[in-house]
Amino acid sequence: MQLTDKIETLPYVGENSAQKLHKLGIFTIEDLLNHIPHRFLDYTNTVDIKDLEMGKESTVAGQITSTSSFRTKTGKVMQTAKIADETGSLQAIWVNQPFLLRMLKEGMTIQLFGKLGFWGRQRAFIFPKFEITSSQQSPNGKLIPIYPETEGITSKWLSKRALDALSKIQKIDDFFDDNQLESLSLVDLHTSLQYIHDPEDISNWQKGVDRLAFNELLLLQLQNAFERIEWQDNNQALKLPIQPDQTQLFIEKLPFELTDSQLQSIKELSKDFERTHPMNRLLQGDVGAGKTVIAAFGLFASFIHGYQSVLMAPTQVLATQHYETLSTLLNNFNMRVSLYTGSVEKSGLGKDDVIIGTHALLHRPQLFEKAAVVVIDEQHRFGVRQRAKILENTKTDTHTPHILSMTATPIPRTITLTLYGDLDISLLDTLPKGRKPVKTWVVPKSKRKAAYSWIEKEIDEKGIQAFVVCPFIEESDKDELRQVKAATVEYENWKKIMPTKNIALLHGKLKPEEKDQVLQDFKEKKYDILVTTPVVEVGIDVPNATIMMIEAADRFGLAQLHQLRGRVGRSDLQSYCLLFTETKSADSKKRLKLMEEHNNGQKLAELDLELRGPGEIFGVRQSGLPELKIANWNDFALIKKTRKFATTVAKNQKKYPKILSYYKHKQISKN
Ligand code: ADP
Ligand code: MG
Repeated sequence: MQLTDKIETLPYVGENSAQKLHKLGIFTIEDLLNHIPHRFLDYTNTVDIKDLEMGKESTVAGQITSTSSFRTKTGKVMQTAKIADETGSLQAIWVNQPFLLRMLKEGMTIQLFGKLGFWGRQRAFIFPKFEITSSQQSPNGKLIPIYPETEGITSKWLSKRALDALSKIQKIDDFFDDNQLESLSLVDLHTSLQYIHDPEDISNWQKGVDRLAFNELLLLQLQNAFERIEWQDNNQALKLPIQPDQTQLFIEKLPFELTDSQLQSIKELSKDFERTHPMNRLLQGDVGAGKTVIAAFGLFASFIHGYQSVLMAPTQVLATQHYETLSTLLNNFNMRVSLYTGSVEKSGLGKDDVIIGTHALLHRPQLFEKAAVVVIDEQHRFGVRQRAKILENTKTDTHTPHILSMTATPIPRTITLTLYGDLDISLLDTLPKGRKPVKTWVVPKSKRKAAYSWIEKEIDEKGIQAFVVCPFIEESDKDELRQVKAATVEYENWKKIMPTKNIALLHGKLKPEEKDQVLQDFKEKKYDILVTTPVVEVGIDVPNATIMMIEAADRFGLAQLHQLRGRVGRSDLQSYCLLFTETKSADSKKRLKLMEEHNNGQKLAELDLELRGPGEIFGVRQSGLPELKIANWNDFALIKKTRKFATTVAKNQKKYPKILSYYKHKQISKN
């Protein structure tokens, strides 16, 4: 038997079961073996019914003494089963699963896995997972794998088929030899599958998982490593060596002292500029960390070698702001800076040295003669195609520009190393001196009134300004209208709450010029309060705004909240972030409390990843983040290990023919 054989070639897999397996994405023997249990019933850990604790995940075993089914007032059909062991009895409850009662019969021995909670006033296991265990089977000291199932296919059946397949294959060809396995502390593939489909104990199972997780991450990291090498091999850069005195000159002209991490980033760029292949670097740093000046250094380096450079920003507001800041800064060196957005063109006489603009630049290839550096601000706001297009516009027959992508989105390190694994990373992890951390409070419903009076007093006494961010609805086009409506209601509401204050409204459906106007007016203190939707770009610098108030804060991710919070705290004034919430969920409250304790965006993103998983945070499909079946996004050590190994493989491809063919095989079966 071979891995590529059809699943039907296995005994006991008829046409009927094969069709059900197809629904689980299982077509070949290999698919079956890679259909991994997502958890185990741990018979070693069964609890007596009398010892069950509220809210804690546990397993109980017992006999079904009765079953029933009833309809609730709201029309749901509930299924219940009463389970008893020697110490007591317990009700298990499910909703709308009528087929359950065809499986669960009085007298059967079953295992329930779940949490004890309340159903009305009764203590009950709510929607537990279960496993029917025949009375002869003594599960002593065994882990029973539980697979993602489909109706008519049980975990037990899946496990038997997988073990049968394993025994018929004899030995799965591993792409690692024994030496490599030993140096990476991994078990061979065959053993890992044995451990996973039929674990003796937890440590055994863990070894199996470790091996498959390694494979899973290795594939992702190989892709990164190959992309990186391809970039290096196929692109020629214009070398831009910078002398120390030139760097010194640049730094001296700045109106502030650079932070250590800014200096470090400048060093990293300088090194990249000396290579023959172009830079491909991501600059990560919280809002306000000072990324612009790093970009400016890149533009400067290009200029002193006589080349043009480009900076692209996702919105007109940001492009205009960059134009203003950079013109002032770069005019010190007699650099000519120009601005191209959909509606504005500001170009000096003669050739532009630095071209700043929005998407509009994508349609103006004739602007670029010889650009040596391209900066893309808020890079995630541009699509893959738009990024490719700007590269196409600036690439010539002889060279490819150095690319600096910038982002303020806090991303856990593990995800950066995977999602942006083909890039080099620079990190601005210290804020400029003199910035006070933004004081953050979670405000419950009972303190809402008090919070309003406090905000009003701050405005009256200190002349500061405030942002009010409306509840997050959903980030899809259809919902933008709802979002605008919600913001408008909020705006009307605030006019009533603070009739003596000047209040403005900003949302995504305003025309770019209208947005610019509102923001400009807010900057000029014509308004005290700016009510805004969360998706709208407020990447503006308004140092006098010191209060950020966020409605229904529990609907946001921590990284998102942190980014919103970054709109204040941009001066030496003390700033505040008020997180309004009416949530009753203890988990949500705990999550929000983390905002009071932590000021580091990346740390918050990592905590959020632990608490909510990547799907909630990134909207997996949208972000292009691959789905992990086995490995865990929190496993920094393993991600680093696979990354290092993948780099070695990509650099010495001749030495690893088996890994390469495994990689190719997987690439093909993916498509
Ligand atoms: P980012 O783009 O990372 O959000 P900016 O580059 O817009 O941040 O910088 C935010 C503000 O901080 C700007 O007003 C900038 O002039 C200022 N700034 C940047 N670096 C420093 C520094 N080292 N010391 C003091 N102020 C700084
Ligand atoms: Mg910026």
